[in-house]
Amino acid sequence: MTNNLKNIRDLTFEEIEEFFLTHNRPNFRASQVYKWLWSNFVYDFSQMTNLSLNDRNLLISNFAIKSISKYEYIDSKDGTTKFLFKIDNEKVVEGVLIPQKDRYTVCISSQAGCSLACKFCATGKLKLLRNLAAWEIFDQVYLINKFSLEKYKSKITNIVYMGMGEPLLNISNVLKSISLINYSHGLNISQKRITVSTAGITKIIKKIADLKPKFNLAISLHSANNKKRSELMEINETNNLRNLLASVSYFYNITKIKPTYEYVLLSGINDSQDDAEELIEFCKKSPAKVNLIEYNHVKGIPFKKSTKESTQKFIDILEKNKILVKLRRSRGEDIGAACGQLATQNKKW
Ligand code: SF4
Repeated sequence: MTNNLKNIRDLTFEEIEEFFLTHNRPNFRASQVYKWLWSNFVYDFSQMTNLSLNDRNLLISNFAIKSISKYEYIDSKDGTTKFLFKIDNEKVVEGVLIPQKDRYTVCISSQAGCSLACKFCATGKLKLLRNLAAWEIFDQVYLINKFSLEKYKSKITNIVYMGMGEPLLNISNVLKSISLINYSHGLNISQKRITVSTAGITKIIKKIADLKPKFNLAISLHSANNKKRSELMEINETNNLRNLLASVSYFYNITKIKPTYEYVLLSGINDSQDDAEELIEFCKKSPAKVNLIEYNHVKGIPFKKSTKESTQKFIDILEKNKILVKLRRSRGEDIGAACGQLATQNKKW
């Protein structure tokens, strides 16, 4: 019966307040309930002990409390852990914990599957099943943080929305999840430690800029040549480099946050001197940083990782031209947890 009830974790604080007001209950009940849910992470109304029995019963008859509780995890040889979260009793979304020296980065999913079909990405081979709710995005962070506290005695330090799905196509839930993660009485993780990645949905980049966010923006660029980029990413046909540049400059002008261009180096495809020069020209048009990513093999996808020599040459050309560039080494490749590999492999249920 509770299955048909609305999930109270879908409600904003104001909506909970509204609920108590319409039932002639004191409105401080809303902050009590909100704290149980988002500070104490209590998902059972009967354990909300500072509410009267009447109010607990009122909640029980009107709402369910849904959360992600079931997950499996697999450890990589390099210390990375991949999590498979079960939603709707069957679908799986993936998250990854990447421990480094003083950094515990979590990569989370915003959709089950993806509609964009970028050529180098395993998730792109899956269809879009559905958008994740804000609480489902939050729960990935919460559960991985709990795991990190138990295993490493350390809270997670950084969150990247770079798992399954295109975050900007689920933007209202993504923004809601960021404010939940940021909630000062809860996980209290600063927006500055959060990065939202996009394949380049230009209109929404501008809308986000208008909200003056404090979180970082990463753009999956992968080529600064329109024809090549369209071959790698269909989204470039409707959101081409000119429009992308306009939206990225708009974002920078409003927020003063330099976006990061993600660029996966594919041997013989986008790793030549000409490719580097086109990237430099693109970067000079609006302040940005570049993250080069080592390609990770995906079964059935014909691309190859750039050689060490081509990678180094690419970096040298960028650095000579004063472009801020970092090489992101592959992590978790052996368990299908690395960039572009998330495709719900290894699940047992
Ligand atoms: S790279 Fe991102 S946007 Fe492109 S198919 Fe993969 S998950 Fe979707």
